[in-house]
Amino acid sequence: MKETYVGKSKVNGKGLYIGESTKKGEVIDYIHGDIHVFKSITPKISKMMMDWIGVGRYSWIDTSQSKFRFINHSCVPNVALVSKRKVIAIKNIPKNTELYLDYSLNEAEDGWSIKCACGTQKCRKIIGPIQTLPKATYSRYKKYIPKNFQRIFEMENE
Ligand SMILES: [Zn+2]
Repeated sequence: MKETYVGKSKVNGKGLYIGESTKKGEVIDYIHGDIHVFKSITPKISKMMMDWIGVGRYSWIDTSQSKFRFINHSCVPNVALVSKRKVIAIKNIPKNTELYLDYSLNEAEDGWSIKCACGTQKCRKIIGPIQTLPKATYSRYKKYIPKNFQRIFEMENE
């Protein structure tokens, strides 16, 4: 497990930073929090879900008691949630770098979308669930995408 800390984000409010240099493939940490299952999303639930990260089509991990609540999205991520709780580095990350997930890799809710201002050259501007990911992006990150989300993408992009 790596040392992480919360600091001012380069893209949005607060962000999560790595406190030590980390090599590609190394485990950053495990996300602690309850897993919630909902088959349909009401506006009330949708509000609660602000700090949740998808672990299945209808299930999410509640990060509100975890530092991962502060992790921001980038269309060029440097970490990935590769199972229900395990976050790994997907590139070599220097000490004191802000960590980013690509939220689309762990979300399958139809109609979910947010505007992105990550500022990277590969920015998709509007990000949506895994099934809306461009094929090239999917292929690039496939090995870091949990199997259940791979199946959702592949079923809907045949
Ligand atoms: Zn972006």
